[in-house]
Amino acid sequence: MREMKYSDRLAKLPPYLFAEIDKAKRQAKARGRDIVDLGIGDPDLPTPPHIVEALYKAALDVNNHHYALDNGMPEFRRAIAKWYQRRFNVKLDPDTEVLPLIGSKEGIAHFPLAFVNTGDHVLVPDPCYPPYRNGTIFAGGVPYLMPLLAENGFLPDFSRIERNALKKAKLMFINYPNNPTGAVADEGFYRRTLAFARRNNIFICSDAAYSEICFDAYRPMSILQLGGAKDAAIEFHSLSKTYNMTGWRIGWACGNKRAIAGLAKVKSNIDSGIFQAIQLAGIAALEGPQSCIKKANGIYQDRRDALVDGLDSLGWRVSVPKATFYIWLRVMRGYNSASMAKALLEKADIIATPGSGFGKYGEGYIRMALTVPKERIKVAIQRMKKFLR
Ligand code: PLP
Repeated sequence: MREMKYSDRLAKLPPYLFAEIDKAKRQAKARGRDIVDLGIGDPDLPTPPHIVEALYKAALDVNNHHYALDNGMPEFRRAIAKWYQRRFNVKLDPDTEVLPLIGSKEGIAHFPLAFVNTGDHVLVPDPCYPPYRNGTIFAGGVPYLMPLLAENGFLPDFSRIERNALKKAKLMFINYPNNPTGAVADEGFYRRTLAFARRNNIFICSDAAYSEICFDAYRPMSILQLGGAKDAAIEFHSLSKTYNMTGWRIGWACGNKRAIAGLAKVKSNIDSGIFQAIQLAGIAALEGPQSCIKKANGIYQDRRDALVDGLDSLGWRVSVPKATFYIWLRVMRGYNSASMAKALLEKADIIATPGSGFGKYGEGYIRMALTVPKERIKVAIQRMKKFLR
């Protein structure tokens, strides 16, 4: 039999960035090297014990061993709506405006299947979390890139979008606090985005995965706090970063009813729900003590300061993020993103993510994640010092 050819849609996708980095890391480790991994955005802190206990208890209950259809458990949807009300003072109908997801990545990647037809444009920030682009391609859509540039505070400049592209655009992804740049958006930005989207009939997909990872006195807002935003937007949330639950695969989408119904229809044809025990643990996360978030943010903030100060002492100036656990740095003169990441790995045993993996406007940057203890960040700084010499 001839070797099977990949579909055109699969062939169009670039290799998944983090898989490539993981491979390089494994190879370096297999050679016995002590790597400081500032690569992938996966918290090193454990899931808080009360959430693990809730899972354990729920896993013992045979009633939780079945397919979890019903667009997520009503109890979990209600817990999400209550959390939203407490956190953002936004009312959500748990039956029609909330949809649990198998991690927000799953919902983000599937969402275009519900609304994008072949050739439709989707406005996608660049650099960005890859599923905005790749989910669009899977749905037969065309990602139209909105550059996120330092001079604009890494916010998209809507006035630069070509007229022709605007006419074809159906959806727009935005993501603040932002991965990979660490940038944040204020109310003015969300107001401009909403007005622009309404004017041009473009639906907004706001990814708020990092809404709770914030420092100093800064608290990110939700686009759904703006009056009438539910007419034009859906927001994606995740328990992954907030409660150190990346491996659990649980998040949600909320907002516009029609968008939620469309995504639910796609999902009902693809998956068969989230393990109920995990949904019950999700309720424990949202309704249990929230001090774990403050504690984790204190740790990230301490690491952020150690990394920023350390880089500063090397003459490597970076801006201090108000949110997310990412530092976005310009590469040194004479390097590009890939060669900088390669040099750091080969000469300093440090893994950083090349900015170009997040899109072409990420070229010239690398991303460092604050997901290792402060002592390891200090080791990384010492190694960079040696490397620079
Ligand atoms: N959105 C952004 C911007 C992310 O960086 C990530 C994960 O890194 C996600 C969404 C996905 O989170 P999850 O699928 O674990 O909920």
